[in-house]
Amino acid sequence: MNEVHGDTARHGGASGPEADARALRVFRARRIISLADGTDAARPQEPEAFATLGERIVATGDWADLRSRFPAAEPVDLGDAVVVPGLNDAHCHPAGLADTRLRVSLTAEAMSTGGGSRALLADKARATPPGRWVVAEGYNPAADPHGRLDRAALDAVSREHPVLAVHFSCHMAVANSRALELAGHRDTDADPPGGTLGRNPDGSLDGWMYEGAWFDEWFRPSGAPELLGEFTLDDLVPSFAEVCREFHAAGITSWCDALVSPREIRLYQEAARRGVLTARVGMLVWHRYFADLQRTGLGTGFGSEHLRLVGVKMMIDGALAGGTCLCRAPYPSQTGADNGIQLMGDEEFAAAVRAVHDAGSRVAVHANGDLAVGKVLDAIEAARAAEPRYAATNHRIEHCSLVDDDLIARIAAAGVTPVPFGSFLHEHGDKLRGYYGDERAAAACAHRRFLDAGIAVGGSSDHPAGPLPPLLAIRTMVTRATDSGEVLGPDLRVTPRQALEVYTVGSAHATGEGHLKGRLVPGMLADFTVLGEDLLATPPERIADIPVLSTWVGARRVWAA
Ligand SMILES: [Zn+2]
Repeated sequence: MNEVHGDTARHGGASGPEADARALRVFRARRIISLADGTDAARPQEPEAFATLGERIVATGDWADLRSRFPAAEPVDLGDAVVVPGLNDAHCHPAGLADTRLRVSLTAEAMSTGGGSRALLADKARATPPGRWVVAEGYNPAADPHGRLDRAALDAVSREHPVLAVHFSCHMAVANSRALELAGHRDTDADPPGGTLGRNPDGSLDGWMYEGAWFDEWFRPSGAPELLGEFTLDDLVPSFAEVCREFHAAGITSWCDALVSPREIRLYQEAARRGVLTARVGMLVWHRYFADLQRTGLGTGFGSEHLRLVGVKMMIDGALAGGTCLCRAPYPSQTGADNGIQLMGDEEFAAAVRAVHDAGSRVAVHANGDLAVGKVLDAIEAARAAEPRYAATNHRIEHCSLVDDDLIARIAAAGVTPVPFGSFLHEHGDKLRGYYGDERAAAACAHRRFLDAGIAVGGSSDHPAGPLPPLLAIRTMVTRATDSGEVLGPDLRVTPRQALEVYTVGSAHATGEGHLKGRLVPGMLADFTVLGEDLLATPPERIADIPVLSTWVGARRVWAA
């Protein structure tokens, strides 16, 4: 933190937020890509410099003019670097990464270097007092050298600790007997609504919990979050500070945490209180908490420019990368006539959307397949018609992966903001053909089609479910190349400038903050990312290799290479 306050200390004779609020600075760089209206590739009327007062940009223009207009300002010459508006990840899951850093990692890499899942879990159990949780994340069963974990294998690790391994998709998890008992799952139980429990041939539970069968337990107020409180805030806040650094190192100044429960909200507040929340954060609250939230009177928009409630999260279908999203027509990865999974019934879902809309809050619904997207639009259209007072609310569709012309027209008419995956085609594109067939694979993640229809689009990583770097997402939107180099749907490629706008202007719109950030113009927050090369002039295939030199939030440097 010293380097952040150091600049202020030199100039104001004091440090801390009060001094920073009065700090005047003038920045220049080789190129400032402001994304101001009226600047584009053909007419780069870009400013040479900008002046900041406290956290905001107060003027843009020539370096010499701004130096003479603001003689007391600290000059910050960024030399040959290129400045872009701060990169904003509109859908990711950073709070949980504070736990991840303290838990057992069961990724393919961790298992291959650590002797397999069983050895890693046994080590952690030995270091954990009996009765406390042993939790693993990122589990990749296909890469487990000793075969897929199940209840019996986890009972062999420990019967004294509850043991849980979460699949890397986060859509399923496997537990030992003690953990199943604490979660309330018994051999005689029927499957809970919206999910299934894995079973052995004799009907007993095999430990696996799918979809609602595990995450409803995880997120319900009396459920696993309390059971899983294996770390205190004193453990988590320093771990979270490392997460902030990791995001800033990727050039990120703002993010929207796409699913928070009371546990994550407490962590964000404590991180802010201790001064380590250096990013700006929007939170989507899991819908099971909406009734409680509504009783308090708190709704979308409540908070500050640093930490804000931005909507209520729901999920209607499965995972694009899991081959389970809800489509109109059956597809290869589903058996027989199956067309994917639906997590909430139509009536329950429509009522939930209606309640949030009527409260003047934003819904953000996870929907991947075309049938799922249609169901979200049915619910939003009905809610808007019944309560037109809040027709200006831009509800969101998270991922919104498979759409057609009719759905796009409805999204535009309802003012809905899609938040598609940025780097999905790079990470998982090679699997898509096998899951959904060639036509859907080429049509997935259709940023271009939304933009062509005049729809604002948010940029997102879904990290840790997808890779974090926004520059990788921008490259993927521009090239649509998979990891193996195949190009899916070349007609849907966007320009580098469009991709940058998605990750700045579009993401700000997705949280209702388009008036605050996304462009480097007077009145907006001075959040920006300093790059070693010109994003708009670099060959597309090299965009992900551009170095991030430093990251600034409210004109304060929060990270430097
Ligand atoms: Zn997500």
